[in-house]
Amino acid sequence: MISISKLLCDLDAEGDGLRYDAADDSEKPQITEEKQQRPVVVWNATRRCNLYCSHCYAGAETEAATGEFTTAEAKSFLDQLADFGAPVILFSGGEPLVRDDLVELVSYAADRGLRPVLSSNGTLITRETAAALRDAGLQYAGISVDGLPERNDRFRGEEGAFDAAVRGIEHCLEVGLKTGLRYTITEANAPDLEGVVDLLVEKGLDRFCFYHLDYGGRGAEIVDADLSPQAKREAIEQVADLTLAYHDRGEEIETLLVGNYADAAFLVEYARETFGEAKARAVYEHLERNGGDPTGERIADVDYQGNVHPTQFWQGYSLGNVRDRPFGEIWDDELNPLLEALRNREEHLRGKCADCQYQSVCRGGSRLRALAETGDLFAPDPQCYLHEDEVRGEGGPVVGGAAD
Ligand code: SF4
Repeated sequence: MISISKLLCDLDAEGDGLRYDAADDSEKPQITEEKQQRPVVVWNATRRCNLYCSHCYAGAETEAATGEFTTAEAKSFLDQLADFGAPVILFSGGEPLVRDDLVELVSYAADRGLRPVLSSNGTLITRETAAALRDAGLQYAGISVDGLPERNDRFRGEEGAFDAAVRGIEHCLEVGLKTGLRYTITEANAPDLEGVVDLLVEKGLDRFCFYHLDYGGRGAEIVDADLSPQAKREAIEQVADLTLAYHDRGEEIETLLVGNYADAAFLVEYARETFGEAKARAVYEHLERNGGDPTGERIADVDYQGNVHPTQFWQGYSLGNVRDRPFGEIWDDELNPLLEALRNREEHLRGKCADCQYQSVCRGGSRLRALAETGDLFAPDPQCYLHEDEVRGEGGPVVGGAAD
């Protein structure tokens, strides 16, 4: 995750300790340095969902799948994560709220010292559920909305899904549960972005996460709906402009980008253009501490059957199953070829990524997109929208390493 509000507006938020090693400096509660060494774990608690979204990375279905964890198995898995020292468990899906034991599992995770957070389509969150999740120790609910009503409902395959999600957001806010928007930007919904932000700011929301489309699950079937690199660049510029505009009006809106580390490079360029070289350097230094794309290192995924993946989007490759081996053993297996490749990717990157001046803040972007588009794990990310002169450092001093 890349926090635009932190980088451009110096807005401090919970979680920045994970992203920028700022735990000691921050006034907000942060995750300890020891736990920062471990990955945030996304858990697809179920494959079942009450909606059928066209971009679902988990390929969720409306019918129950076989092999999902029982409550006892889920607790044993949470024990594995706690023993390993994972800082955060993100309950995802499918739609996690279709599990009857969600509140019990959130409570168990919190008791075991994991920070429980939730990713949901929001449509099943009543006021009572929101209160129960808060009381169980849930720290954050990220609720997906992918456009204004017409576009969102088309995307999500159900009329009324937008209104139901907004009601879910309202219920979370009413009970004091920290809540944010998740918005996957595609060609179909880019025009609604500003309208959705304005509407939800009115409702009191102050955290917005913008996701790039990654090519996993059903996302791979709608690659054509992804924005062109130029349109992507314009969308991210719009998000940065919006963040600055809200900040100038005195609103503390946290804005995050997920899924394309060319955004990191772009934000350095944006900061240089908007504020000058000193700010660009400060942004670059923060991003260097963030370390670029976290796949296979600072983020992990465990699916509804217990298979471990390098991220939630990489569902097609299993590193092992937590029913057979503890999560920590699978994650620390240095002999796994994909983990080894991802953790040492700098040695193998090809094409524009190999020579890019922003490699240390991006690390070649999404290896999954490169693989899906070209069959080559180390090819350039096809959705890098950086201009050639920016990649090569022409037209301005290289920020960071080479200039120091
Ligand atoms: S060229 Fe590669 S390393 Fe550079 S910003 Fe683009 S994706 Fe990242």
